[in-house]
Amino acid sequence: AEELLWKSEKLSLVGELAAGVAHEIRNPLTSIKGFIQLFQQGVRKEEYFHVILKEFNRVEDIIKEFLSLAKPQEIQLKPVNIPSLVKEIVTLLESEAHLKNVEFLIEIEQDIPMIMCDANQLKQVLLNLYKNSIEAIDIKKEGLIRVTVRSKHENNLLIQVCDNGVGISEDRIKRLGEPFFSNKEKGTGLGLMLCYRIIKDLKGTLSFESIENQGTTVTVSLPLIIDETNVTVN
Ligand code: ADP
Ligand code: MG
Repeated sequence: AEELLWKSEKLSLVGELAAGVAHEIRNPLTSIKGFIQLFQQGVRKEEYFHVILKEFNRVEDIIKEFLSLAKPQEIQLKPVNIPSLVKEIVTLLESEAHLKNVEFLIEIEQDIPMIMCDANQLKQVLLNLYKNSIEAIDIKKEGLIRVTVRSKHENNLLIQVCDNGVGISEDRIKRLGEPFFSNKEKGTGLGLMLCYRIIKDLKGTLSFESIENQGTTVTVSLPLIIDETNVTVN
């Protein structure tokens, strides 16, 4: 019965999301249609192509994130070296960060143990968090994103992403993770929903602290489960 309940909860979430997706892609599709109609009427401007492409990308993003939410990957727990994962994802985003005048600073405590985790899923979470931080920083500002990894904290491994971006007001913090909750022109508002889902599956927690106009700190806390392969059995 529990399984059934869980299934129906999941189905209704997918249904709700699907309704939202339909709603969210209607705007870019309407806009694409409009431009094509302009073309038919002979109004042909080079810049329309950029707008059309931008709108297509938005539809693509929404569908991509919807699919990863609606069809979750199975969690595969394996020993993961969190510090290298954290660094790897920073490298992926470094050129994008550089373009926005944002610098990453990585601080890793000594002796971080391997933990049992799903590296691919955690990658998705970190990518989303780093991206949100980059996007929160005004291009005119010297952006700084400090990523710290610590493990000497109540049996949890903590990954913190701290930025000096625009921050989030208290009433908006409560709504983070709601589908389509976004204040960005090209945002999907699905990123954090996915992050919350993954971190919950990994039995961890995700929390936000923020001061408006100063910055935001996101904390991912994961259980420090000892890697069984390191345990000697007599
Ligand atoms: P999206 O990035 O597509 O807007 P997300 O679910 O990733 O969707 O984030 C939802 C909203 O939370 C963002 O639109 C933004 O308003 C806010 N947010 C998330 N992270 C940060 C951050 N580091 N600084 C400021 N605002 C943030
Ligand atoms: Mg995002």
